Formats: sequence, C-alpha cells, structure tokens
Amino acid sequence: MRRLLAAFLMLALCAAGARAGDPDGAFRRWLAHDLWPAAHGAGISREVFNRAFAGVRVNPKLPDLILPGQSRIPKRQRQAEFGAPARYFNERSLAALAARGRALLGRHKRLFARIAARYGVPGRIILGIWARESNYGAARIPYNAFSILGTQAFLGRRRELFRRELLAALTIVQKGYAPAKALKASWAGALGQPQMMPSFYLKYAVDFDGDGRRDIWRSIPDITASIASHLAAHGWKRGLDWGFEVTVPASVSCTLEGPDQGKSFARWAAMGVRRAGGGPFPKGYVRRRGYLLMPAGRFGPAFIVTDNFYVLKAYNMSDLYALFVGHLGDRIRWNARSFRAVWGDVGHLPRSDVAAMQRRLEALGHDVGGADGLPGFKTRRYIGRWQAAHGLKPRCFPTQRLKALLK
Ligand code: CA
Repeated sequence: MRRLLAAFLMLALCAAGARAGDPDGAFRRWLAHDLWPAAHGAGISREVFNRAFAGVRVNPKLPDLILPGQSRIPKRQRQAEFGAPARYFNERSLAALAARGRALLGRHKRLFARIAARYGVPGRIILGIWARESNYGAARIPYNAFSILGTQAFLGRRRELFRRELLAALTIVQKGYAPAKALKASWAGALGQPQMMPSFYLKYAVDFDGDGRRDIWRSIPDITASIASHLAAHGWKRGLDWGFEVTVPASVSCTLEGPDQGKSFARWAAMGVRRAGGGPFPKGYVRRRGYLLMPAGRFGPAFIVTDNFYVLKAYNMSDLYALFVGHLGDRIRWNARSFRAVWGDVGHLPRSDVAAMQRRLEALGHDVGGADGLPGFKTRRYIGRWQAAHGLKPRCFPTQRLKALLK
C-alpha cells in the first residue's frame, strides 16, 4: 500500500512537472523512480539503463501525447481521410519499387535462396515488405528509439503499450543484440529497415550474417532474414502464393468477402469466379482454401487470396498493405503488370463519416470490427448486407451516397 501511495505521489509530481513546463525534469524523475525499478526487475543493468537514456529528452512533437491544455484529439486527426485504395497503389512508385526490387533480387540471389531454404518465404515477398517499410532502406529512420518510446511511455495516450516496448528496447541492448546508440526508430517507434517494434524484434529478428548481432539497421542478410523469420513464425506456408486477381460475376455477392468465409478454389471457380485475364488457377490450388478480397467493394479489383495473405497481415493489419506486398512481389518476380480492374473514384470520405456509418451498423446489431473509420472487410460486407436488405445492389463500400442513406 505504501509503495502504491509512493508511486501515485511520484506520478502526480511528474505530471505536475510536465505541466509546469519542465517536461525533461519530470521525465528524469520518472526514469529514476518509476521506470528504473521496473527495468531492474526485468534484468536490465544500471550501466545499460544509463547508456540508453544518456542525453535522451522528451520529444513533445510526437503524435498522441497528452500535453498541457490538450485533452482532445486534434481536429486534423478527426478529419483525416482513410487511405483510398487508388492512392495506395500509385503506379509510378510501384514501377520504381519493382525495378529496384528486381535488381536486389538478382544481386542477392544466393542470400534469398538460403533464406527460402530456411524459412520457406520467397525473396519477392521479403522485398515487398522491405520496400513498403523503408523503401529498401532508403527512407530515413533517424530517431533515437529511447526518446520516442520514452516520450510515449511517459506522456502518451497508450502509455502501457509503449512502456512494454521501451522495456523490450532495453532488453535488446542488455542481451547484446545491438548497441544502444544503434537503436534508430521511426516516428512511431518501429526499429530499423524492417520497421519492427522492439517486442517483435526480440521474438523475430535474427543474425543471418553470423557476426553476433541482429543488425536490422545495416545488414541486408539480417534485415531480409528477420522479415522471413517473422512471416515463418506466423505460419507462412512454403510454396503457396498470396493470391490472384479475379473477376467476380454479379451472381457472387461481395458480402462473401473475408477470412471467415473461405471456400476451395474449385468451389469459387464453380461459382463463376475467374482469374483476371483468363486462364485457370494454377494446378495444386484446386483443393486449397481461398478467400474473397474486395478492398474497394464493387468499385475496384477483386482477389481470391490464400492463408499466406493473412500471414502478411500479421506484419501490418491492413488489407491494402498485404495486397501491396503481394502485388509488388509479383511485379518484381514476374514483371507482372498492374491490376486489370481499376480502382474506382469512391469519393474520399473522412474517417469520421466512415466511423458514423460503422456506429449505425453497430446499432443495427452488426459486428463491424470497431468504429475506427477504416472500412475493413467486416465493415464492407455489412454495408453490402444492409444494401441487399434494403433492395439495393450490394456494393460493399462506404460512399457519399450511402452516408446519406445510412443515417
Ligand atoms: Ca548480424
């Protein structure tokens, strides 16, 4: 009880310090009296702790902080549009990434063969993730991880999550996987070229060049094998592709989308779903499970994806992200062309409008996966079901017109 009281007093003092305009003094006190006991308990030495936080200051410019006189979500964030699919698949950027990816695949042929032998993940998929996360390392990842994670653990809206990540970052240094000064992070606190949060790094980063360090900042073997190790640990199936673009006849409803409505490729084919551009699904897929994916509902390309598509989503939860990686991989490996169907102009709704529709669907008893303003597959298909139930053609995507109807 006394410890609890002491902890409470300390927190109150720190918060008062942060408010009083001395965030760094408050941060130092928080490090000494709150974080250090936890780190010590987790096996971190005083030396590692001090080295990690030497010269580290609070970064008040980070997003999602609770700062003096600011308790509401900034307006900018409320008004943000969700990423429209068409913008996500910018043709010029995809073509450039594919060209660079092909060059890297050629240059590191033996490395990718070794990784595929060990983890079962092909080079084109690893390159797709590497490209998306850091433009094959060309993106600047300049921030001190202890400053980013420390600020978020001290002042952020999701303090508990970042406190765990901060302790994981200290553990990385304690175990000697990487020196403290090497831990460079993005604005969001993700580490190195594969952009792994520290807890993920601890689980999945590997030393593939055998120098004793898991260097996801500079070593191409470590970067690429760490991505493969992550995918393998999440169940990547050797020899299985991510999926195929298809055409979906009007008789097959877009409400059949989603990982919980899988059918065999043979069944989809029997229902009239065809590979875009013609031709049958490859041999060996007939009995495999496939899942309908329509990221823009009836307003864009459709896909039958495999279990491996959902392994890509373990790296980043977004359907568009996983699709980008798979598609870029196809372009790297087979010089594949862009999608055959075009992404329609779906009107660019702000996230707050999509969230309002989601709350309406929730009120009607549908599980849309949370009113986050992002039209994921659950939102898409319940929109489609609502449309069908109201005598409309299911389109499975939020639009301006639907916003007016779904009130
Ligand atoms: Ca290494």
